[in-house]
Amino acid sequence: MSVERTLSIIKPDATRRNLTGAIVDRFEKAGLRVVAQRRMQLSTAQAEAFYGVHRERPFFKSLVEFMTSGPVVVQVLEGEGAIAKNREVMGATNPANAAAGTIRKDFAESIEANSVHGSDAPETAANEIKFFFSDLDIVG
Ligand code: GDP
Repeated sequence: MSVERTLSIIKPDATRRNLTGAIVDRFEKAGLRVVAQRRMQLSTAQAEAFYGVHRERPFFKSLVEFMTSGPVVVQVLEGEGAIAKNREVMGATNPANAAAGTIRKDFAESIEANSVHGSDAPETAANEIKFFFSDLDIVG
């Protein structure tokens, strides 16, 4: 397996409950390194663009409202097989289906307010990292 980079977002339900450090700790304990990080308020246009693939889904409007309801922490995680490792540490989209010990099992409030985002494949990881960060922002 090779060293990869993936885009992670700590979502507004988690920043609201002051869980940023607890969530970063899960990633670090799993061997992932934070190589870029920014706390920010997403605009509606930014949230719509980021989740553009879900534009036709019934939950799109609600998802955009949720993602703009408070600050997020966007970060690049680096490590061996980082894309799959991040998804494993996050757990299933719906916390009701998430495995024990995962971030979503332990912290998520609902299928929508599920505390974290993680890229799902190498191409999306590259595009999602570029959405938020320039090469100069990432220090491995
Ligand atoms: P992920 O890759 O596990 O984040 O899941 P998806 O790419 O399928 O969905 C993106 C995000 O949309 C999820 O993380 C949730 O925040 C939200 N979402 C997914 N499915 C639903 C749903 O059925 N209802 C609502 N309200 N939100 C959803």
